[in-house]
Amino acid sequence: MPANLISGTQLSQEIRVDIARRAARSSSAGVQPGLAVILVGDDPASHVYVRNKVQACAATGIRSVLERHPASLTQAALLAQIAALNADPAVHGILVQMPLPPQIDPNAVIAAISTAKDVDGYSVLSAGELLTGAPGFRPCTPYGCMKLIESTGISLKGKHAVVIGRSNTVGKPMALLLLQANATVTICHSNTPDLGLHTRQADVVVAAVGRRNTVTADMIKPGAIVIDVGMNRDEAGKLCGDVDFAGVREVAGAITPVPGGVGPMTITMLLLNTIEAAEAAQGKIA
Ligand code: NAP
Repeated sequence: MPANLISGTQLSQEIRVDIARRAARSSSAGVQPGLAVILVGDDPASHVYVRNKVQACAATGIRSVLERHPASLTQAALLAQIAALNADPAVHGILVQMPLPPQIDPNAVIAAISTAKDVDGYSVLSAGELLTGAPGFRPCTPYGCMKLIESTGISLKGKHAVVIGRSNTVGKPMALLLLQANATVTICHSNTPDLGLHTRQADVVVAAVGRRNTVTADMIKPGAIVIDVGMNRDEAGKLCGDVDFAGVREVAGAITPVPGGVGPMTITMLLLNTIEAAEAAQGKIA
């Protein structure tokens, strides 16, 4: 029997209804949630990502401010803008779209964002909050993956989860979130000699590699949950993940598609973090 499809599109819609309700409540109490999005340069993919984020804000009642800059922007000018946004009470979340041009150090930029407005959850402080289990903003993609797993109704407690990939933005925070949910976690990466040895034992596999067909049917335990973070193109230029979807869905218990799986959830978690930032700011005023 083919695996159940975990639809990020559908789950996103459900969560966005709640986000819109919370945004309306916050606005009627005098605090419209606000997200500042900073885009530097002309990277076409970044323009698409930013446009999607701005549109998602508009659809849920979050005010977004798009600050566009030429690729020649200096680091000092960007840091000055972030300082101004940190001090602006109408801005609850600040997002700097990556990648940045080479003259700007992304770590310096992320570090400049106030932790209270770090809705991407990328700063060292936010990472420390995640590591120690303190409240804080969780990076949007792994946070969305957790919501997708939760939506299956299967508890992670005592399960074996294998994360493939160890980036600071996806793999590592994903592993920490799974650990926090009481899974036993294995992290695999490019130096892992036999990926299948690990994935075949897993109740949950999260693939965050950036390479097509990294996970095939023979690597999956029957009934496992498979979350595909990857965004790649096949020979025909069609968007696909890291998982051989057609093969793996015949073995897995539940699987996310690409597109329509993790992608929509990433933006939804950004909106959720922004709402939570606005509610926290409102709490401070009230
Ligand atoms: P990344 O920084 O390039 O990290 C990729 C990870 O995969 C690295 O840890 C790397 O190991 C590991 N890896 C590479 N080849 C491998 C192999 N053959 N076997 C096992 N592990 C291998 O990428 P990322 O930013 O984490 O993103 C991963 C993928 O998710 C990309 O396709 C990206 O486009 C996608 N993504 C999607 C969303 C979304 O919203 N859907 C959001 C973010 C990212 P090493 O550390 O050893 O190099």
